[in-house]
Amino acid sequence: MKIFKSYCRIIYYFRFYMKLTFSPHTLYFKRPFKIAHGTRSSTPIVLTQLEHEGIIGYGEASLPPYLSESHQTVLEFLNRATPIIKILQNPVDIEFVLNEIDKIAPNNIAAKASIDIALHDLVGKLKNEPCWKHFSCIKGNTPFTTYTLGIDEPEIIKLKIKEGEEYKYFKVKLNGENDKQIINTIREVTDKPIAIDVNQGWRDKYIALEMINWLSDKNVLFIEQPLQKDNYEDSHWLFERSPLPIFADESIQRYSDIDYAKNCFHGINIKLMKCTGMFEAHKMIKRARELNLKLLIGCMSETSCAISAAAQLTPLVDYADLDGALLIKNNLFKGVDFYEGKIILNEMPGIGAVPVS
Ligand code: MG
Repeated sequence: MKIFKSYCRIIYYFRFYMKLTFSPHTLYFKRPFKIAHGTRSSTPIVLTQLEHEGIIGYGEASLPPYLSESHQTVLEFLNRATPIIKILQNPVDIEFVLNEIDKIAPNNIAAKASIDIALHDLVGKLKNEPCWKHFSCIKGNTPFTTYTLGIDEPEIIKLKIKEGEEYKYFKVKLNGENDKQIINTIREVTDKPIAIDVNQGWRDKYIALEMINWLSDKNVLFIEQPLQKDNYEDSHWLFERSPLPIFADESIQRYSDIDYAKNCFHGINIKLMKCTGMFEAHKMIKRARELNLKLLIGCMSETSCAISAAAQLTPLVDYADLDGALLIKNNLFKGVDFYEGKIILNEMPGIGAVPVS
């Protein structure tokens, strides 16, 4: 009888515990990708799996080199998280689980996001509910994604516009070098609305204002991160004078940063890899709305795993820049779709993405 009871206890334990597994990968761009931070042809990522009751949730950390995380730091963090995850037997209490993960070490934002995404996917599957429903979203209220044009020679830019002709909006990367030439090249071939992303590339507030004035009659939706991320004083100066809306990206990373945005920016770009994942992104959306900020959900170069996770929240925002998986050669997941750029959420439980076998 005693042996039988021990056996039952072991079966009970192995049925209900959570298991974390993970593996490093590299995503390769279809074309070299140049922005103000530099040019690259690949991005390291780590894929995670959280298993409970035989059901698997999928997650991802994307690690562009200008941020502080790498394969090594993410694998170290996830190795530390593994025994902690194992003793957390109730994945459905998402906030509790994520608080325990957050206590392991500060920073490691993308590593934490990979657990957050896998946890939301797992819980969605356990409840048989898509994440967009979990966040009380209306499925059809998704925005159109922009299609990104990196910094390139005129003939490459024209080729990329042709490749992205089904998309309604382009996102144009500038860096303060040949900006007017890039915009003039685009306007030779299309009058579609464009969003501008400077990635902190304009040297000072006067150059920024002159450029924004020049862009103001060129069908531009908004200007993203024109100045250095910690230059709130000049950002405030520009915010008061700009004829176009200005969005923060690098300046606003986490929930605790949002209140800085209200006097310096008209909107913010929320990314799962900057804010530890879907749980905090949702909190940021609610706070930003209280402050009357416009909202964009963006991405790094990611597979359709992290893209689909971010897409679950897009019915709550004004704009989306979720073309990360469209720009890579080796998308390791199949997930949300796009129709002429509009994000099409599916009915699959969780984040709505499955690995490509
Ligand atoms: Mg940006």
